[in-house]
Amino acid sequence: MYMQGLCKRVELIALVFSSILLSPFAPIASASEAQKVADPKKITDAQWRKKLTPAQYEVTRQKGTERAFSGKYWDNHEKGDYKCSNCGARLFVSGDKFDSGTGWPSFDRPVDSRDVQISKDRSFGVERDEVTCSHCGAHLGHVFDDGPAATTGKRYCINSASLDFKPLSSSPSQIDCKANKK
Ligand SMILES: [Zn+2]
Repeated sequence: MYMQGLCKRVELIALVFSSILLSPFAPIASASEAQKVADPKKITDAQWRKKLTPAQYEVTRQKGTERAFSGKYWDNHEKGDYKCSNCGARLFVSGDKFDSGTGWPSFDRPVDSRDVQISKDRSFGVERDEVTCSHCGAHLGHVFDDGPAATTGKRYCINSASLDFKPLSSSPSQIDCKANKK
């Protein structure tokens, strides 16, 4: 009984996930699909505008910033991977996320420093370090030096709209579930 109930739940989660993936608001490609795109940097602005949601386009392609506490992930405590919402590259993981109190998802480091690019942003009369996805050029957010002193001291302040969260439990084994059904 318990296993059946669990399987039903797992199947429901799988169903919800597949419908999210098939929706027009889904990111352009998963990590494996992203590899098929020869060079995401060659995708034109018009193509991005068509493929992304207005919020994703505004943040990632127009260097916008979502309002604090408005995004999907600032208060997300689930375990999993945070991928680029534009190209599917795995950029951050839940283990490096911390509660910064700022209202934006905050990480003390990227998965691999080669996956993000840091450059000077002098907009609004202040100098900040902008963080972009190395793979597709999407604007992700900014990095500051007021992160947890016990680890890196860095605070990667990232927009939820730039990210696509994949929970660790998002790959239920359909075969195991079927095997448990009587
Ligand atoms: Zn990207």
